[in-house]
Amino acid sequence: MFDKVLIANRGEIALRIQRACHGLGIKTVAVHSEADRHAQYVQNADESLCIGPAAPGLSYLNQTALLFAAKVSGAQAIHPGYGFLSENAGFAERIEAAGLTFIGPSAACIRTMGDKVAAKRAMREAGVPCVPGPDSSMPSDDASILAIAAEIGYPVIVKAAGGGGGRGMRVVQAEAELLAAIGLTREEARLAFGNPELYIEKFLGHPRHVEIQVLCDAHGHAIWLGCRDCSLQRRHQKVLEEAPAPGIDPALIATVGERCAEACRRIGYRGVGTFEFLYEDGEFFFIEMNTRLQVEHPVTEMTTGIDIVQQQLRMARGEVLSVRQEDVQLNGHSLECRINAEDPLTFMPTPGLIQRWEVPGGFGVRVDSHVTTGYRVPPYYDSMVAKVITHGATREEAMARMRLALSEMVVEGISTNISLHRDILDDPAFCEGGVDIHHLERWLQQRSPT
Ligand code: ADP
Repeated sequence: MFDKVLIANRGEIALRIQRACHGLGIKTVAVHSEADRHAQYVQNADESLCIGPAAPGLSYLNQTALLFAAKVSGAQAIHPGYGFLSENAGFAERIEAAGLTFIGPSAACIRTMGDKVAAKRAMREAGVPCVPGPDSSMPSDDASILAIAAEIGYPVIVKAAGGGGGRGMRVVQAEAELLAAIGLTREEARLAFGNPELYIEKFLGHPRHVEIQVLCDAHGHAIWLGCRDCSLQRRHQKVLEEAPAPGIDPALIATVGERCAEACRRIGYRGVGTFEFLYEDGEFFFIEMNTRLQVEHPVTEMTTGIDIVQQQLRMARGEVLSVRQEDVQLNGHSLECRINAEDPLTFMPTPGLIQRWEVPGGFGVRVDSHVTTGYRVPPYYDSMVAKVITHGATREEAMARMRLALSEMVVEGISTNISLHRDILDDPAFCEGGVDIHHLERWLQQRSPT
């Protein structure tokens, strides 16, 4: 049992975790870089400690500094948030070795899921539907490689087992291109991830990105919390998410959701996690599991009424999951717009001083943000400054509330992508629901041909 948590993150998620801790009567230690010294959530924490200069490698990624901060503050647990060290198995191990609690799954689970070949194998064994293709790494002889690809059928995608962030992948349209593509991807993977292992699977042409949130305790209980659609992406970065994924048969989602929960029970998964799928022509195909809290968790909270971050803390404290699958009632529809400090046309980051900051409100509207008037967006980190989340009885109602919320939001001093979100909410294809992962990029190209 812990009663003081060090939050090894910054920005909106540091504030979100702080609120969840305070709601449970848990004390918080905010750690911050020199650039984040004046942030409101740092001031509001029970204690705060500077862990280094602005550069993430010297502060938020500095494991030794974080462990030292936990020691001097007396925090017994560390919450990694998302990004930074949240999926670093070595960090989880160091925390446990220091006698502290890592708020997340075991290092072994993080490691398995961080290796996409091992993850695919574990999921296939548990009955989770996967993208067609072997769940073993690629053989070394050309003839066997060509035979595997021919059996899958072109186009195929060559992926790095250790890849992440949308890097280390190459689509191959025809046999003549395969071996050259493998050579290039292997070299890239060796340099970028220190792991040259590759695998090969079917390339899906027009999938949607649909994911399933799970919640597990350390006593063998696991539940799934509906699904989210995160197909609106630019350069593999999610822009707007929603729950549930529109137009998908709830019975199919329930079948896949139950397989995900079962997979968690089999591997002894603990805490929160997300199964990411590509969904095409009525079928789900597992691509990877995220072993951490995700940016878009609020749309699931709004449709289930479950505080996922509080649950995560309770699971890490060793509590037995108090919510049973039959208690999970999916209610209405929720949308989340990621508000970034960036130019809405060029997508260049726009750090700087926010001179006026007014956020929307009202029934069915939630804003998760660490920003206030007078806040200076630092240039060193992710450019997200707020998440505007709405909920409604129907998708139409959630969209109408989002249009209203975005019209109320005022940010002066820096540019943001609020106007982009407004335009997306006027796009007939988005309004109809069910666009694929290429839709946003196609739409952006048509909007401003360059
Ligand atoms: P990363 O860990 O780098 O995010 P993922 O395996 O999650 O890698 O894939 C990232 C993105 O690449 C997916 O969201 C999808 O857009 C595309 N992608 C991955 N695998 C396939 C596939 N088999 N067919 C089509 N697109 C794919």
